[in-house]
Amino acid sequence: MRIAIPKETHPGENRVPITPDAAKKLCRMGAELVIEAGMGLGSGFTDAEYTDVGAAVSNDRNALFSEADVLLRLRKPELAEVAMMKSGCIHISYLDPFNEHELVEALRKQGVTSISMEMIPRTTRSQKMDALSSQANLAGYVMVMLAAAKLPRIFPMMMTPAGTLKPAKVFIIGAGVAGLQAIATAKRLGAKVTAFDTRPVVAEQVRSLGATFLDIDLGDTGETSGGYAKELTPEQIQIQRDAQKDAIAESDVLITTAQVFGRKPPVIVTRDVVEGMAPGSVVVDMAAETGGNVEGSVPNETVDINGVTVIGQGNLSNEVCRDASQMYSSNLFNLVEDSWDKETNVFNIDFEHDILPGCIITHGGEVTNETIKKIQAGES
Ligand code: NAD
Repeated sequence: MRIAIPKETHPGENRVPITPDAAKKLCRMGAELVIEAGMGLGSGFTDAEYTDVGAAVSNDRNALFSEADVLLRLRKPELAEVAMMKSGCIHISYLDPFNEHELVEALRKQGVTSISMEMIPRTTRSQKMDALSSQANLAGYVMVMLAAAKLPRIFPMMMTPAGTLKPAKVFIIGAGVAGLQAIATAKRLGAKVTAFDTRPVVAEQVRSLGATFLDIDLGDTGETSGGYAKELTPEQIQIQRDAQKDAIAESDVLITTAQVFGRKPPVIVTRDVVEGMAPGSVVVDMAAETGGNVEGSVPNETVDINGVTVIGQGNLSNEVCRDASQMYSSNLFNLVEDSWDKETNVFNIDFEHDILPGCIITHGGEVTNETIKKIQAGES
């Protein structure tokens, strides 16, 4: 099978879908690999590094799309790119299928087998393919770095002849993959960290990192069978907002990472609460691009609210693109290898597989994913 990897074209995107290391493994596996010229440059990988391991390089972007049996990518395709794909082509990338109705419909019509990296089930066996986790992990680290760079204070306690500096106080809301990494990073820098999450199971994980868990009684919260948080009722959100107020007011840094899978992120910090923080404090809202956890955060901008710096930067793992590329590339390779038939050199689309059916969105002219099918039909 011919696997093609076009260059990412989104402005500012420096991550690449496949590193030379993974390219080598794909070639060894028996794939005919072709990359677009300059595909790896965003993360510092030259074309020569790919040709050295057996890949071909092409300058003809249209041919990459029209001749590929498998397309490996980072970001979702443009509609014009879908129109160039062969019927039966397998396209693997982030897809945002909950929101991209027109794109899902175009992929279906074109007969493309589209696989969404966001929809890989969160099982133990699929961890090695889980790009949401690998990128969120790096995002957690980056958020703390961004906050530390803006805060007019240091994170650790410092006892010197010139006096004692108290450790910075960091409050983290949402302790999933990104939040837990943010906690660990802030702790390593010496900050005093408190965190909150609606899933009770998280409290122990927070404490094991040496942080304090803020106990808020929200009644029944629980989690879905997939391990995700359930959406809170408006009453529960209000209880949470009230109970967090004091912890936020006394924090130097607030980092929010709260998400509810497939839904808009909850607004859990209102503008008056941000205004209640001391001037110079820093807020990082990881959800700014998709609606925001913090009222007043602006996607991809840093704004000042009453002397508080509010960072709404998106695509956080792009800040550490070399490592982000390595991890995403590993996730992609592991996904492909898992379904690669080494006898016939074919990516085997198997609806009995334990992982694939959950993340295949379209196949054979149908929307095969049940959740996305309902959304496309306007039922959800
Ligand atoms: P996510 O990005 O969907 O959400 C981030 C966090 O926000 C979650 O911890 C969620 O509970 C929390 N949250 C939602 N509403 C909130 C609110 N109002 N206030 C505070 N916090 C709120 O989550 P994720 O990081 O992608 O992880 C989701 C789950 O999947 C977690 O249980 C994680 O441990 C699990 N997971 C499992 C595997 C695996 O077993 N392979 C891999 C990765 C993640």
